[in-house]
Amino acid sequence: MKLVVWLIFIVLVVLAIRKKAKPLTASTPDEVRTAQQESVAENMVSCAHCHIYLPASEAVHCGGNVYCSAAHADAH
Ligand SMILES: [Zn+2]
Repeated sequence: MKLVVWLIFIVLVVLAIRKKAKPLTASTPDEVRTAQQESVAENMVSCAHCHIYLPASEAVHCGGNVYCSAAHADAH
């Protein structure tokens, strides 16, 4: 009788560990992936006019150069 109680206890512990471990292993690669995507999105470029650094997504491209704003693109 004691053996059956121990078996049930062990099965419950294994199930509890699996439930806790699953979200951790599932979220870790996603966090790494989103961090890599953010680092790609946050690629910094320098303004050709004032040399300020800004994210590439916010940069203004004009004549092969990168500018921080349309005003600096017009200034060149
Ligand atoms: Zn600028």
